[in-house]
This record gives sequence, structure tokens and C-alpha cells, in this order.
Amino acid sequence: MRSQDYDRLYLSPPHLGRHEMNYVHKAIEDNWVAPAGPNITGFEADICAAVGVPYAVALNSGTAAIHLGLILLGVGPGDEVLCPSFTFVATANPIVYLGATPVFVDSEAETWNICPERLREAIVDRIAKGRKPKALILVHLYGMPARLPEILALATEFDIPILEDAAEALGSEWEQQPLGSFGRVGVFSFNGNKILTTSGGGALVTYDRALADKARFLATQAKDDAPYYQHSETGYNYRLSNILAGIGRGQMELLPERVKRRRQIFDWYREHLAAVPGLTVALAPEPAGSRANRWLTTILLASPDPDNAAPAPTPEAVRLHLETRNIESRPLWKPLHLQPLFAAAPMYGGAVCEDLFARGLCLPSGTAMGDGELRRVKEALTVALS
Ligand SMILES: *Cc1c(COP(=O)(O)O)cnc(C)c1O
Repeated sequence: MRSQDYDRLYLSPPHLGRHEMNYVHKAIEDNWVAPAGPNITGFEADICAAVGVPYAVALNSGTAAIHLGLILLGVGPGDEVLCPSFTFVATANPIVYLGATPVFVDSEAETWNICPERLREAIVDRIAKGRKPKALILVHLYGMPARLPEILALATEFDIPILEDAAEALGSEWEQQPLGSFGRVGVFSFNGNKILTTSGGGALVTYDRALADKARFLATQAKDDAPYYQHSETGYNYRLSNILAGIGRGQMELLPERVKRRRQIFDWYREHLAAVPGLTVALAPEPAGSRANRWLTTILLASPDPDNAAPAPTPEAVRLHLETRNIESRPLWKPLHLQPLFAAAPMYGGAVCEDLFARGLCLPSGTAMGDGELRRVKEALTVALS
């Protein structure tokens, strides 16, 4: 680590435990450095146990998992796929890889996830235009469960399959059922900044054995069952390595502990920032039935007050002030319908996610932080907002 970074507070750095090295060590000792191997099988079993689904396929990124998931749902050139605008670009990029078009939908104000009313409007309108959406990507942003009952009912009513992008939501629950287990296909990410990490990695989960087999087949170059290299379909090189899966096994042992600590950090901020003027700790409280993993704690600054002459600080001014104290913070995801990349894509609503983007900021939320570091963030925020 570079010396000037010694006391830098990062947003969500990797946090390794005690056992990752044992699994990695064993893989090297046994010469299992190839992609396939016992850590892959073990990691997949750990994911199945944590998420409550029978099949998991370990992949080299969450983006790869979304890409394969969309292929499993039959998405192809010319299709349309429903997607929240308020999410990371990796949710929507695989739609474009397949020659399909994203149809973006606004958020609702409480969970920040896809709004069921706007979603209904979008579905009805696309069907009226003769373009029934082929799939819906459902995202649980920052680990907060989306409006599952309403959205599952819409998916059933219109017979549209769900790909659940639970990249940020490992360990979150709705009515005690783990997120990632509600769609035809579920997706997780083990990227370096997520609640658990393999440095880079992802997984696809499903109840359907045929879909899991197909995902494995596509992820390993789609090699036909023949003694030579024969291929009838386009495949990908998307499998996770046995070494990285070893890190994943060590990390999976820590999931309950890590969720508990993220939730404590959120509670700390909520309690200690309550008195800071001009600031709301957002995503509080959880709607009934939800248990969020609180992957990142996010704040919203007060809306500009037309009766107050002094302009309210912007999230960017706050971010720059935290930066002077070597504290990393980040804007919320910039809505995808505002991205030059997606300028031509249809969008339903937009005011809610545009307001969230204009007022929000993500705070350091890494599980290795202690209360002293949390106090540092609080002091910096108090100065920035006074
Ligand atoms: C991180 C993330 C992804 C992509 O996962 P990678 O493993 O980085 O490819 C997809 N969707 C969301 C919502 C994410 O936060």
C-alpha cells in the first residue's frame, strides 16, 4: 500500500477473513490451478445454501452472469428488455451485447428500485406498440429489496420472465427469502467492492437444472458432446478459476457476519447523523418484510429551499470536502437514460431517479471500519454541511 494511502477511507474495499488462504493454498498444493476444480464445486454449493436455490454456476463476473442469463431467457437481436434506469451500467450493457434494446423505467421514492406503476405503463405501452418485452431485469440497488409482490404479480400477469440482478444484494431478504431466488435466473457479483469478493467474479443461480447446464455449457466455449472440438453455438470463456473460487469459499463463511456489520454501520450513521442539518440518511426505514444487507450507506441532501437565500451544498461540494480529508465518497448511480450511451432508448418516467442522483451520495461502508473511522466521516460531513 502506498504510504499516502495509509489513512485513506475507501468506499467499500475488500475485507478478507481467515480462511481464504487455506482454500487457495490447497488448490495450488493439489495443482488445481485450471478453471474447473473442487473449489468451484464447493463455492457453488455455498452459494446454493446461502440463497436457497438448487443450482449455481460460478462465473468470472456479474456482467457475464447477466449476459448468459439473458441468453437463457431467449433475448436476441431486435428484442426489448425492461430495466430500471437507476442502476450501474453493467445491468444494461449485456442487453446491448445481444443486439436488443433496453426500455428504461423510473424508480419509486421509498426503495429507489423500479416503480411498479411506471413498470405497468411501460409494459402496456410496449405491448400496444407491438413490442412485448422479452424479459425484465430486476435490480435491488444498494442491497435494498425492490417491491417484490407488485413486480412478481406484473411479471405473472404479462408472462414476462425476470432476471434478478442481485449483484449488490447478496444476503438481503424479502419475507425471510434471500434475494436472487425470486427470478427465473438470479445474478450475483463478487467484484472487489461488493459485500463479498473473489477479487473479480460472479454467479448465476436458478431452480431449473436445464438452465444451469446450459449456462455451464455456454460459459466454457459451448463445446458439443464429441471427442473432438465441435461447436454448434457461440460460446464464451466465462468460468471462474478454481483459485478465485477458493477465495469465494472463505468469503462465503463470513456472509452473516458481513451483513451484520454493514447493518451496524448503517445504524451508526443513522443515529449519529440525525442531528446534522440538511441531511437525511436515506433508505430508512426498511419497508415491512424487507431486510437489506446495507451494502452501501447512502445519504440524500435536503432539496434546495426557495425561501432560503443561502444555497444548499451540492453532493459534489460535499464529496470534494471529504476528499480533502482523504475520505472517499461517490455520487449515486447516474441514471442510464441520462447516459450518452443510451440516449435513444425509451424511458418511462424519470423525475424520481433524476432527483435521487441530484441529491445523493454514498458514504464509506466497508466492514473493516471501526467507530473511530465512522466518527471521521461524521466530522467531515458536519463541516461540509454547516
Ligand atoms: C457490480 C454490479 C454488476 C456487475 O458485476 P461485475 O461482477 O462487476 O461484472 C451488475 N449489476 C449491478 C447492479 C452491480 O452493482
